[in-house]
Amino acid sequence: MSDMPYIVKILEEIINIPSPSGYTKRVMERIRREVDMLGFPCTFNRKGGLMVSVAGKTERVLGLSAHVDTLGAMVRSVRPDGTLAFVPIGGFAMQSVEGSYCKVHTRAGQEFTGTIETITPSIHTFPDIRKLERTEENMRVRLDERVRTKEDTEELGIGPGDFISFDPKFVYTETGFIKSRHLDDKASVAVILGFLKYLHDTGKQPEQTLRILFSNYEEVGHGGSFLPPETEEFLAIDMGALGGDLSGDEYHVSVCAKDTSGPYDFDMTNRLIDLAKEYGIDYAVDIFPYYKSDASAALSGGNDVRCALIGQGVAASHGQERTHVDGLWQTWLLLAAYTGVLEKELSRRYFKIQESEAGEK
Ligand SMILES: [Zn+2]
Repeated sequence: MSDMPYIVKILEEIINIPSPSGYTKRVMERIRREVDMLGFPCTFNRKGGLMVSVAGKTERVLGLSAHVDTLGAMVRSVRPDGTLAFVPIGGFAMQSVEGSYCKVHTRAGQEFTGTIETITPSIHTFPDIRKLERTEENMRVRLDERVRTKEDTEELGIGPGDFISFDPKFVYTETGFIKSRHLDDKASVAVILGFLKYLHDTGKQPEQTLRILFSNYEEVGHGGSFLPPETEEFLAIDMGALGGDLSGDEYHVSVCAKDTSGPYDFDMTNRLIDLAKEYGIDYAVDIFPYYKSDASAALSGGNDVRCALIGQGVAASHGQERTHVDGLWQTWLLLAAYTGVLEKELSRRYFKIQESEAGEK
């Protein structure tokens, strides 16, 4: 499968373009260029999401989505010592960003680097750092600038309302793991781009006419809130939640039967499971207990549409996330199967193919 190196490469590239919800123009522009290159027509919706059209063999319209926006933060105020108080964008525990390098993006277009830390970051100076509650009030951004006062920081042009993005720390290991923040949901964006590349390279046409939404406000709840009215089915591709008693892992595609927004469409979900069985795709059916998706947004936005949700398992989601190329591959396979372009001979397991190819050389 020649598209996996492409998927990993484009994933690394888009992951390294900061895009907390509300600050997605740059990454969207990069994705638009990619879609243009692959030769599919696309337009931006009014709130900045990218809608790609793929002609199918039938007029039946299947919507797909993956979200480009990520967790991040916003400057709340400049503290008297020149550090920054901030509020989260999206849902995460402060512990999961403590120690992260970050960037502050000012409204005037400047970028400053910094580190997210508690207000008592040094164990040599503060006796209670283990006990300190990691609340918004107790966290700050330390800027890599010689600032001592609020005025010093304000003079740099930094102030309330500026966006903060987290260093993703992308690593692709020799064992096939991808460790990075924001695999939720840029991993799925990369899988869809890989799928578009496959259509482009092979000239295959999906059964359904596709309307693919690269959404940009999922983490704050309204990414897929509006879909083209002709959309009959909507398949959101987003990370599979892992851990606890859930059955998925980083090497499988999760099929979500129910999340916080309720059960997904019975027939669509069954069909995804049947296709996974038919093609020998490694899948896991799960409920995601604390989770919403672009499909949830589509339903609560009032769209009359059947919805389902799949995606590669992502460990430690909204924290130091990790997935595996096998998980991306199974997601790709299930997407290709659902759209009727999957050939039986494409192998189930990507990483095994790669190993055997390497062995043949
Ligand atoms: Zn997500």
